[in-house]
Amino acid sequence: MKKLPRLRFAHLPTPVEPLPRLSAKLGAVKLSAKRDDQTGLAFGGNKTRKLEYLLAEVQANDARSLITAGAAQSNHCRQTAAAAARFGFDCVLVLAGEAPTTLSGNLLLDHLLGAELVWTSPAERDLTLEETFATWQAAGRRPYLIPYGGSNPTGAAAYAYALEELLSQGARPDWIVFATSSGGTQAGLVAGARLLGFEGRLLGISVDEPAALLQGRIASLANQVGEILGESLSFQAGEIRVNDSYRGAGYGMMGQAEQEALLLFARQEGLLLDPVYTGRAAAGLIDLIRTGFFNPGTEVLFWHTGGSPALFAGRYRQLGIRQ
Ligand SMILES: *Cc1c(COP(=O)(O)O)cnc(C)c1O
Repeated sequence: MKKLPRLRFAHLPTPVEPLPRLSAKLGAVKLSAKRDDQTGLAFGGNKTRKLEYLLAEVQANDARSLITAGAAQSNHCRQTAAAAARFGFDCVLVLAGEAPTTLSGNLLLDHLLGAELVWTSPAERDLTLEETFATWQAAGRRPYLIPYGGSNPTGAAAYAYALEELLSQGARPDWIVFATSSGGTQAGLVAGARLLGFEGRLLGISVDEPAALLQGRIASLANQVGEILGESLSFQAGEIRVNDSYRGAGYGMMGQAEQEALLLFARQEGLLLDPVYTGRAAAGLIDLIRTGFFNPGTEVLFWHTGGSPALFAGRYRQLGIRQ
């Protein structure tokens, strides 16, 4: 694969760890985890890998500030704010939701990291993003738009390289399971798998979007990743594996299944998931194991994409209720 311009600040390679106690508890499969919750930038997560390539573009474009958008507890926004601080850019975050009276979780970190916060409604998010961009540009602050979830071809390509990193660690899982939302992580992984001849299967557990929408988006983004890496790919939507059966009550709504997954991973392995993304993906994985989706003895790697600061968000206080 062609090398793209990159700034190096993530802690890589992230470890691959076996999960023996969890595997024994759930039975049937051999579980391991790829620890992208340990990428190192202000509590890390999958967006840090993407930002290494996105920030190289920002520098090449001579920008002075970063602008991006997300939910109030966005991990992407927190990591973008940290990358901005690390390289001396200003940062503005357009957040969908209501400004809370006290800052907690990722939002507290956004504030610590010096990001300016602009609140908007989910319906007006894109409009507010455009307006804020225009305002900063007019003020001479040379903003650079980091896409939602960092998921343009440049950001997604980071996950083609991440798969290369996993293979260089000697891991050859039969299945890789992970949370999918804006689709950049999955697009990069599937592009990388095709380019590197990796034959394991990649399954995204949708956090919020219907499978059909994600499959189309991911196939086309993966093809664009191929293009910038100088390779021709021709993914069709039907080749992208997305399971959208675990979306529960919607984005950010922690239910019984997510809580059970958080408790299992924490108490069997001392491994912390998050309530929004990895908790939901792990809940899906646990259900798939229990319902016999995987053949006995299958090696399943859970790609941990981060998110743990949301554990400390006020809205997930029910996690602290004794059970
Ligand atoms: C953003 C995010 C994801 C989803 O990654 P996409 O590339 O947007 O699909 C998964 N887990 C966590 C913790 C995230 O912050």
